[in-house]
Amino acid sequence: MEFGWTEAQKAYRQQLVDVLERELPEDWWENYAFDGPCHPKLMDFARGFNLKLAAEGLVVPHWPERYGGRDAEPWEHIITSEEMWSNGEPRSSLYMGTNWAGPAIMVFGTEEQKREHLLTLARGEVLWCQGFSEPSAGTDLAAMSTRATRTETGYRLNGSKVWTSYAKHADICFMLAKIDDAGKSKGAVTCFLLPLDTPGVQVRSITGIHMEDDLNEVFLTDVDLPESARLGGEGKGWEIVTAIIHNERIGAARYEYARRALDRAVMHVKQRGQFHGAVKGEAARALAACESARMLTYLVIDGRVKGREPGADTFIARYAIVMADHAVANFITSHLPDLLVEPGDGMFRAFFGCAIVSGVAAGAAEVQLNMISGRYLGLPRGA
Ligand SMILES: Cc1cc2nc3c(=O)[nH]c(=O)nc-3n(C[C@H](O)[C@H](O)[C@H](O)COP(=O)(O)OP(=O)(O)OC[C@H]3O[C@@H](n4cnc5c(N)ncnc54)[C@H](O)[C@@H]3O)c2cc1C
Repeated sequence: MEFGWTEAQKAYRQQLVDVLERELPEDWWENYAFDGPCHPKLMDFARGFNLKLAAEGLVVPHWPERYGGRDAEPWEHIITSEEMWSNGEPRSSLYMGTNWAGPAIMVFGTEEQKREHLLTLARGEVLWCQGFSEPSAGTDLAAMSTRATRTETGYRLNGSKVWTSYAKHADICFMLAKIDDAGKSKGAVTCFLLPLDTPGVQVRSITGIHMEDDLNEVFLTDVDLPESARLGGEGKGWEIVTAIIHNERIGAARYEYARRALDRAVMHVKQRGQFHGAVKGEAARALAACESARMLTYLVIDGRVKGREPGADTFIARYAIVMADHAVANFITSHLPDLLVEPGDGMFRAFFGCAIVSGVAAGAAEVQLNMISGRYLGLPRGA
């Protein structure tokens, strides 16, 4: 593995830095990003910002040219993610589209779906969300009860989703439902690309402990979709989710966000004359957590560049990202608690809101360990 960035990669990062410097308003952390990338004000900002990124070719450089990219290596994808997440993710949920919804469509979609969804994504025109979790189906997704019944022209969806980040202001949802007559097993799970303005879709916000306006419930009442809204075959949902999970788990380069929050926290602690002894040790451990998460993520990207099949590395990296989030959040809570309370420091408030839920959102941390121990190390269940 090569640890240095090439001149072209450095220039690419600089291009992103320039756009961020130019486009983010001065009160970015205080008035836009403080409540996370799901906040309506940030999502509204993202609509214009994403178009500007696209105009400079900075949305999906790593995609094939025919889908709006320029065939760059996946390194450019992770560089983009690092710069965006460490600035509070000004693209909002566009990242879901570029990280995993788009790649899923690239592999499993029809030509019509590719034309429709990949090009609008590359142009930065759509915000996606993910409708997997349900009231009784989080980790155990196979227990989902949202149903898709066949109609003459396609499917009718009924059910409800919960914890659906971004849904209130997103355009389209990558939705899982079970085909009605295909039994209750994983084999019935099917993917649908559901425009959120479809009649019968109702979105209701839930206030979380971590931030307002992040979470939602999505109710589906006789939602009619054409057959062309189904991604992949009936019952292929599990296969698609299993394939994209490697992109989803590490697509958000949160270790860089944690690292920059840590640097800022150390600066504050130094200014207060409190950076000594055990405090330095704590900062060093948090720094090690951020950098190991970075290296483990790079290992996965390196595998992607070299065409290796994704494996346990993804789940190890994902777990390391959670540990980095927690280490830095704990450091800030221990030494700068006053800056987490309004007005405080907008960046800390934004980072903290994301960090405290990172062991649950996008799959519980414990489940990543289960994946590593069971699927890859072959350890017995319950041991
Ligand atoms: C901020 C946030 C944003 C989210 N955004 C979305 C979204 O956009 N779309 C979406 O579909 N979902 C989203 N979720 C839901 C998230 O994916 C689920 O919360 C998560 O998968 C856990 O499911 P659950 O809440 O049903 O908890 P459960 O599955 O009941 O798990 C609760 C806890 O039990 C333990 N546990 C459960 N099963 C196991 C196991 N097999 N092995 C070991 N431990 C286990 C873990 O500690 C876990 O944290 C979001 C959640 C949060 C907190």
